[in-house]
Amino acid sequence: MKANLIGGRWLDGTQALDNVNPSDIGDIIDTYALADTAQVACAMEAAAAAFGEWSLSTPQQRFDVLDGIGAEILARKAELGDLLAREEGKTLPEAIGEVARAGQIFKFFAGEALRTGGETLPSVRPDIRVEVTREPIGVVGIITPWNFPIAIPAWKIAPALAYGNCVVFKPAEAVPGSAWALTEIIARSALPAGAFNLVMGQGAEVGPAMLNDANLSGLTFTGSVATGRRIAAAALTRDAGMPKLQLEMGGKNAFVVLNDADIDNAVHCAIQSAFYSTGQRCTAASRLIVADGIHDKFVRALVEKMAALNVGDARDPATHIGPVVDERQLEQDLRYVALGKEEGATLVSGGELLRTSTQGKRGHYFRPALFTETHNAMRINQEEIFGPVATVQRVKGYEEALAIVNDSSLGLVAGICTTSLRHATHFKRHAQTGMVMVNVPTAGVDYHVPFGGRKGSSYGPREQGRYAVDFYTTVKTSYIGA
Ligand code: NAD
Repeated sequence: MKANLIGGRWLDGTQALDNVNPSDIGDIIDTYALADTAQVACAMEAAAAAFGEWSLSTPQQRFDVLDGIGAEILARKAELGDLLAREEGKTLPEAIGEVARAGQIFKFFAGEALRTGGETLPSVRPDIRVEVTREPIGVVGIITPWNFPIAIPAWKIAPALAYGNCVVFKPAEAVPGSAWALTEIIARSALPAGAFNLVMGQGAEVGPAMLNDANLSGLTFTGSVATGRRIAAAALTRDAGMPKLQLEMGGKNAFVVLNDADIDNAVHCAIQSAFYSTGQRCTAASRLIVADGIHDKFVRALVEKMAALNVGDARDPATHIGPVVDERQLEQDLRYVALGKEEGATLVSGGELLRTSTQGKRGHYFRPALFTETHNAMRINQEEIFGPVATVQRVKGYEEALAIVNDSSLGLVAGICTTSLRHATHFKRHAQTGMVMVNVPTAGVDYHVPFGGRKGSSYGPREQGRYAVDFYTTVKTSYIGA
């Protein structure tokens, strides 16, 4: 059994969870300890105890720790990528790319540890100087989803540690392997014992235990809108006062194709955005909004490309689309395909359950689905499916397309394919989302710039890049007399 890391010690749980390979459900990767509420309390206590030392560590110490962790992740990207593909089901190139991204993020925040600055201002009163400085917030709870098993933990853990905070990390139940491997690397660094803790466990048990603990100063969460709301509600009524919150939640992202688009690029962007990583990305485009003049040609070309997608074992080089992560998500995908038909949409490609892969393995296989003749009020266009299911909506032109993009309770990312500078410029300004893509897929972002959304997709300061400092530090204003 792989244990949790609490206060610098590896501790088994009274219960454990099997990590199942979604490409081959007979393959149990390993068994992982589940932390109970008492162990969560110990982890929170250990993090609080380590805070004194780590919060006062020098920028050089933090740089060395983070840089070393990043270097090891990068050096082991093939091995860790194989584990990630095996437990989550994204293809090997995607998984190795994700691991490399995690390494780059640790290295980026190693540099940021050296660059944390402040401001000195003259006071409005004579003989007084004002200093604005940043300090770590304390113990940070980190709760992550299953769809990026190492990159999302990395983009929360690295800035938390870089700015001098201590961490209690709870990964998603479906992907403990990558979290444990990352923890094992962190545990061998020069961090003080207790500065980083791993508590694998059930969200409904570990989450509230973390949130109700008086040692918690801030909680950063990525996951569904429903869980994010539950966390926000619990935070509001916490006896110990409200922790700082950062919530990154769902997406129902749109990708617009105008008549003047380069059709090959439009189809490439649609395939990439809607179906790669099995559609299991918060930045996936599940609503394709297509102008009348290019609609039929675009749909024909897209369906043709979809037919050539190999659905198979994540670790087979011939595979384009890996399996769905687990039985529960597979059922959700199938439910939405049935709902789309009930709502009157036309299923023009895919949507079938495949019991076996192209390689004959038994797993959670599902052929990417495309609906046409849809309109935005349909539930398949309003609710996040989180699988390889996309819809097409036919529009007269740009203005109608923009109105549909913004007709959503979520606002993570929006994309447009056009050769019109006027429309691209207008879209960048008027799409009500945190990120906009012009002539590139909606999924695929950089790590040195902010990431996050608007409306129901996000709450709190942005993640990633140097904007991460806003969540992981608190500002202090000092007045110094002459
Ligand atoms: P989820 O909300 O079911 O779970 C996310 C995490 O929350 C897991 O670790 C889970 O154990 C934990 N959790 C469950 N109940 C909890 C509770 N009561 N208190 C505290 N924690 C609890 O989401 P998921 O199915 O793992 O991930 C898919 C979702 O994540 C999708 O909605 C997707 O859009 C979203 N996501 C968003 C982003 C982003 O940056 N916006 C990135 C990736 C995924």
